[in-house]
Amino acid sequence: MRPQDRREFIKQSAALTVGLGNEATGSWLGAADASPLSPEAIKRLRNQLKGSLVVPGDQSYETAKRVFYWNPLTERHPAAIVQCGHEEDAVRAVAFAREHELELAVRSGGHSHLAWGSSNGLVIDVSRLKQITIDPKRRTVRAQAGVLGGEVARAAGIYGLVPVLGQCPGVSATGVTLGGGLGWLAGLFGACCDQLLSAQLITADARTMNVHEDSDPDLFWALRGAGANFGVTTSFEARLHSIGPVLGGDIHFAVRDARSVLMGFREVMAGAPDGFQATLNLTGGERGIFISLCHSGPESETELLLKQLRSLAAPSKEAVSRQPYAQLAEKAAATNPGNSTSPAFRSIQTVYRERISDEVIDVYVDQVGRASPDMVFGLSHYMHGQVCRVAPEATAFPHRSPHSIHLRAAQNWNDPLDHEQRLAWGEEWLRLLRPTSDEKLYANYQTHETAAGSPSIFQGNHERLLALKKKHDPENFFRRNANIAPSRV
Ligand SMILES: Cc1cc2nc3c(=O)[nH]c(=O)nc-3n(C[C@H](O)[C@H](O)[C@H](O)COP(=O)(O)OP(=O)(O)OC[C@H]3O[C@@H](n4cnc5c(N)ncnc54)[C@H](O)[C@@H]3O)c2cc1C
Repeated sequence: MRPQDRREFIKQSAALTVGLGNEATGSWLGAADASPLSPEAIKRLRNQLKGSLVVPGDQSYETAKRVFYWNPLTERHPAAIVQCGHEEDAVRAVAFAREHELELAVRSGGHSHLAWGSSNGLVIDVSRLKQITIDPKRRTVRAQAGVLGGEVARAAGIYGLVPVLGQCPGVSATGVTLGGGLGWLAGLFGACCDQLLSAQLITADARTMNVHEDSDPDLFWALRGAGANFGVTTSFEARLHSIGPVLGGDIHFAVRDARSVLMGFREVMAGAPDGFQATLNLTGGERGIFISLCHSGPESETELLLKQLRSLAAPSKEAVSRQPYAQLAEKAAATNPGNSTSPAFRSIQTVYRERISDEVIDVYVDQVGRASPDMVFGLSHYMHGQVCRVAPEATAFPHRSPHSIHLRAAQNWNDPLDHEQRLAWGEEWLRLLRPTSDEKLYANYQTHETAAGSPSIFQGNHERLLALKKKHDPENFFRRNANIAPSRV
């Protein structure tokens, strides 16, 4: 959507939400939420399922349709939501969506920045598929698609093992892995997708396949970074690792020290050992600036890192301690905008940059001085260590250049009257921080389109992925994702 069209859309949406909506949920009432499906079709599908089918008018519809980033630009009104009670339900749902020509969305944790886990057609929600099996001898986990990152960390921790998953416990292990996946342990062990051993996949023609290196090396390669494009993953197997307790927690600074903290953070991260990762968050509110960190390594290295961080500026508060990795991985990240009490609306913008440039620092200092206190500006996943040693073409996930960084601005609000201002502010932040050319996008953090389209996401892997997409999903049935559209080229 062009910026001027987006602005017009936001204005109209705000007016509609205020005029017709339920302020608590922001939902629009009326024709938009009537299912186009016949009662017979709904009954037939319902009878085939072990789980539930939710359609407009059902009591749970309003909550079932919603995902994490819900606002006038992302909200959808599904014709039906299949809440899978068994992996077979997903097979039935794929066949049903095809038969009725419904746009399909697949949802595990519902954390997509563009709300790809909802749709105006059929949603396959696998979040109730929660089986986890740890094999301590082989150091592997087999998890069904609804298992969250924090849940794998807890299960693996019982055996003294750790998974390589994202930093937020509420993100699904499957979702983060299929898009590449960056977390606290990327410097030590690589991306989440580098740990994948196999995936159970339901294809566009409703077949079930167990995909691994020996069964179909091309498809297995594609699943590691572009996975949502090729089917519904109902379960997967991945490697686990063994590490001792880590240092984890947050160090806070005053907002007035934003510039020196940002500059010092850049320096510390440039020399960081593989076992260190940190996320810098800036807010104009009470929390001020805080660095959330994880270090796995010798005590002497920990001490040096802490000394460096404490000298960025005078810390206003500090809560760091040695702890089992599972404890850190289960803690709701302070960066998580969902930590505040049930906001009705959330939005996020993200940008990938090759460096923390002086220009980035200038924009951050300026923005944090002017922004509303609930806004969180972040710098996450400083790229270094093992994740960067894996070649960009080794998996479908290409963004592995050392010193690159993911920037983010997140906000939440409750009043529909704020839609226009909030969404316009997000656009402005994007305008200031997007690179002027050759923009790269990380599939898991996509918040906007580039003129180049999916090549910005998959870089040198795009041609190979396009050929595979044409082979496995020529009609682009799986398209609510960082999409490789077969017809674009
Ligand atoms: C608070 C927060 C913290 C985050 N932290 C990190 C982080 O530390 N590191 C990181 O790399 N990313 C992070 N992310 C981004 C996250 O990895 C992506 O948004 C990811 O796609 C979310 O997966 P999900 O299943 O939770 O979301 P969903 O919205 O359910 O799905 C996201 C996408 O994956 C597809 N998908 C999900 N499940 C399946 C499945 N079973 N089969 C096929 N396709 C599927 C969906 O169709 C959709 O396109 C974070 C996001 C949030 C909101």
